Amino acid sequence: MPVESDRAKVLLPMPVGSGYDYRIPADMAVSPGDFVRVPLGPRQMTGVVWGAADGAVPDDRLKAMIARHDAPPLAQAHRRFIDWIAAYAVAAPGSVLRMSIPVPEALDPPVPETGYRLAAPAAAAPPGVRITPKRRRVLEALAGAGTVAAERLRAAAGVSSAVLTGMAKAGLVEAAPVAVRADWPAPDPDRAGVALSANQRAAAQALAGAVGAGYATLVLEGVSGSGKTEVYFEAIAEALRQGRQSIVLLPEIALSAQWLARFEQRFGAAPAPWHSDLTRAQRRRIWRAAATGTARVVVGARSALMLPMPELGLIVVDEEHDQSFKQEDGVVYHARDMAVVRATLEAVPVVLASATPALETVANVERGRYARLILPERHGRAAMPAVELLDLREEGPPRGRWLAGRVVHTIAETLAAGEQALLYLNRRGYAPLTLCRGCGLRLECPQCAAWLVEHRLAGRLECHHCGHTRTLPRECPECGAEDSFVPCGPGVERLAEEVAGLLPSARVLVATSDTIRGPAAAAALVRDVRDGAVDLLIGTQILAKGHHFPRLTLVGVVDADLGLAGGDLRAAERTWQMLNQVAGRAGRAERPGRVILQSWQPEHPVLRAIADGDRDGFIAEEKAARERCGMPPYGRLAAIIVSGRRAEAVQQAAQALGRYAPAQDGLAVLGPTPAPLALLRGYFRHRLLVKAARTVNLQDYIRRWLSRTPQPGDVRIKVDIDPYSFS
Ligand SMILES: [Zn+2]
Ligand SMILES: [Zn+2]
Repeated sequence: MPVESDRAKVLLPMPVGSGYDYRIPADMAVSPGDFVRVPLGPRQMTGVVWGAADGAVPDDRLKAMIARHDAPPLAQAHRRFIDWIAAYAVAAPGSVLRMSIPVPEALDPPVPETGYRLAAPAAAAPPGVRITPKRRRVLEALAGAGTVAAERLRAAAGVSSAVLTGMAKAGLVEAAPVAVRADWPAPDPDRAGVALSANQRAAAQALAGAVGAGYATLVLEGVSGSGKTEVYFEAIAEALRQGRQSIVLLPEIALSAQWLARFEQRFGAAPAPWHSDLTRAQRRRIWRAAATGTARVVVGARSALMLPMPELGLIVVDEEHDQSFKQEDGVVYHARDMAVVRATLEAVPVVLASATPALETVANVERGRYARLILPERHGRAAMPAVELLDLREEGPPRGRWLAGRVVHTIAETLAAGEQALLYLNRRGYAPLTLCRGCGLRLECPQCAAWLVEHRLAGRLECHHCGHTRTLPRECPECGAEDSFVPCGPGVERLAEEVAGLLPSARVLVATSDTIRGPAAAAALVRDVRDGAVDLLIGTQILAKGHHFPRLTLVGVVDADLGLAGGDLRAAERTWQMLNQVAGRAGRAERPGRVILQSWQPEHPVLRAIADGDRDGFIAEEKAARERCGMPPYGRLAAIIVSGRRAEAVQQAAQALGRYAPAQDGLAVLGPTPAPLALLRGYFRHRLLVKAARTVNLQDYIRRWLSRTPQPGDVRIKVDIDPYSFS
């Protein structure tokens, strides 16, 4: 329905205001949701027609829209979704819109990409032209490949564009247009999938039956290895049959080679991926494919939830409990919760899949808001692994070592039987702390209130918060002692060193975000483990997620207590989820699995619950604890972080904010206090917490509060509704 007035409000993808009025030229018709190009100061910008003009711009300053993009409009449900998130997250609607159009140039008609092909004759270099190693790599990448897009060629050969243009000038290669692929290959819902068990079939039918029947949130809960993926694939198949698009959110999508392989096997075509490892040209193409409906299934990280999908029929959030769905920068939101909101507004079902659903999700099942489907057993002949607690007070390793004798023996036995083992320690690098033996000085990051972590393989110390690096000083800057620094505590590199001493013939692979960068490395890791080229994996949480290694039968958790320390509201829950997930890597095929948890406090209720497989007991206890102190999901919580370059200004602003807090029943403002990470990337940080009953409208309160508090210009204020990070 075109706008009938001669003006309309346009929302721009930027973090100020809630849209500006523009004049509609006489020869242009626009409807709400249309993408339009408008002037903004000296620039031009693409925005979305949001609705009727609000009259805030006087007639003589009203500027005219420039053009309407030839693209499907942003659906009304999606526009409401953007407004909803903005209101919920206490953010500017334009900031949320920017997440939906992160590559505005995708709205322009696709331009043919430039590519290169071998210049004929390809056999010999023209006289006087030097073939450097870089040029040789380009020639090799082009051999027999026809025309290759410049961007892809640069990546394949590892060269800059200057190398390519230089080669074109020298007559080694020639530029040529690359045809733009108009379509994304359509997944075929009717290919034969893997055989499902009776339980899987029942759950698959329930999910498929919900597609096309309006809004519903369906929690698909099943132990790891129970085949949840194959079950929700059937819901995707149904959406495809009904001509609807699907979004699947996965944590660590760039590392999910196995998931992608299973999808292709089931549907005969790959889904469109959406994650941070894509090039800008790829993002442009995939955004357009999603927004025009050519991409039928998009799989991605949390940001995929924001893509326009005109024929959306289904949303799946896999590993819904995973922390990576919480976005902490810019607009602070939780993609799982926002997936439920989008499903409501679009009137489509959303599937939340997990072996260990978040307590929020469990509470919503109990309140009757979400339906729950259970897969009670592992798929095929696999049984659940046996979990043992190892008391480090009784059988701990000798000083300076980290693996108990029982763990080392069991690894040796496992490898001797031709099976594989995994040692889990969620600590990258060699040692988490480096300390001077002479004076006790700890090496800290100059920009963060955090220790520097030694990465011995890379030969440096690194801050895991800001990326600051330095080499190990030979002399202590405090006491002047030489070679006085000693590493304290283990990281995965140090474990690998210990294993090399104890089990010298074991073929060890260390897998962390330092060593497994991107999809290619992840795929190589999976191949090496499957082919038996690796005996023992040592790794961090990137190994805990989703991998299926049939011959891996032993999991050793080096420090099961690691996540339990600290005052984090979700420490117990997170440890429960992580340990369950990593334990779930053991014994996923015919051979039974075994899990050993090293702990200084094996009597801790979380560890006991894992050893006993007592899901219900753990959840009951955790719920009772949260309910007692009115914490989420039984109460509401928001964090206000005040940060800035000058410590004093930050402290004053935080105190002022505390003083201006309006009084309200059922709500308390705690703080300000220095945040646990009181210095981060050079910014000083103070924090206030707002704790409220579930009936309180927290956002209204915070908006009222912030609007009456004077805010100095050099201090930033960030609102985090339902905080997950308490650093
Ligand atoms: Zn010293
Ligand atoms: Zn730092």
